[in-house]
Parts: sequence; C-alpha cells; structure tokens
Amino acid sequence: MADVLKKVLLEPSEISGRVSEMAGAISRDYAGREILVIGVLKGAFVFMADLIRALSIPCQTDFIRAASYGAGTESSGKIAITKDIEMDVAGRDVLVVEDILDSGLTLRYIVDALKLRNPRSVKVCAFLDKRKRRKVHFEADYVGYTMEDGFVVGYGLDFNEQYRFLPGVYVLDPAPEGEKEANE
Ligand code: 5GP
Ligand code: MG
Repeated sequence: MADVLKKVLLEPSEISGRVSEMAGAISRDYAGREILVIGVLKGAFVFMADLIRALSIPCQTDFIRAASYGAGTESSGKIAITKDIEMDVAGRDVLVVEDILDSGLTLRYIVDALKLRNPRSVKVCAFLDKRKRRKVHFEADYVGYTMEDGFVVGYGLDFNEQYRFLPGVYVLDPAPEGEKEANE
C-alpha cells in the first residue's frame, strides 16, 4: 500500500454492510415501484454497482457526468453536464447516485436540470457526505456516512484518476511529513 494511503476510513466489510442497509431503506421506500438509477460518473460507479445489486425492487440504470471548471480539489461553482443521460426521465421515479457530496454544487445543478424534464420524483443517494463544506443548501435523501473534511480515495473515488479500484476508502495524505522533509 502506498505511503500516502496509511489511514483507512472504511474497510470493505463495513462498506458492504452499510450499502445493504441503504439498499434496504430504498427498497422499502419504493416498494412496488421501479426506479431509474442515475449514477454520477465517474466516482459513483463502484458504489452504484454494489447498491443496485442489493436492491429488492427492479431498477433501470443510466449515467450522467458533470464537470466543474476550476483547478484542484474544490468545485469552482461553474458546472456543466459533459455527458448526459440517454433515457427519458418523464414520469419516472429517479434516484441519483453520487460518490460524495461536498459543496453541493454538482448535485444541486444535476437535480435542478433533471427536474426540468418532468420526472415523477427525484431523490439523491450519496455514499459520503461532507456536511460542513456545503456552499449551497442541499440534503441527500440517503447517506452512507457523514465525514469531516479531508480528501478520500478508493471505492470509486480518485485522486488524479488513481486509486478508484481500491475496495476500501482511505484518507489521502499527498505529502506525509516524512516525505516532505525527505524531498526538501
Ligand atoms: P461538490 O459537492 O463540491 O459539487 O462536488 C462533489 C464532487 O467533488 C464529488 O463527486 C467528487 O467528485 C469530488 N470530491 C469531493 N470531495 C472529494 C474527496 O474527498 N475525494 C474525492 N476523490 N473526490 C471528492
Ligand atoms: Mg463525483
């Protein structure tokens, strides 16, 4: 394991238990209905794959991708949809699945855009929620874990496209103390 990933936030076994609980809650809430699950690329694909396989209601799936213009790990506020869904949401019960909810800007934009297309309902399921970092008011309907500030990778989440494949979630420390000194 790379030095930058020493701190495990969530073990794979813990994640699978929590994802099953979330799928149970979703299945109960939508009992007797079929949902359209829309994953927010790229980060949500691992979580979404586990979540839909734990549902006990039927679902269809699609994907959307949004980009925020700005450098680094912070959303700038300017969001655009760079890959749209291919299905019609009109009259559908839509569940948007996101890896991590941070400022809220991305999901606010996606949910508002989807609502203009006349779905029957839109709810949001986020695996992680950094509640204290919101820039706009936004509440997810289903949250796996709330977390404090800090940058995490694994379980679909990346840093410069690395680490998505890791089965657990790790706190990324891009410049551990020892390395900082060694590099100086
Ligand atoms: P926001 O809610 O600020 O608009 O954006 C949320 C998006 O920022 C997430 O979907 C994710 O792509 C990215 N993000 C926010 N916090 C983290 C983090 O701790 N790790 C990773 N890998 N991505 C993050
Ligand atoms: Mg994302």
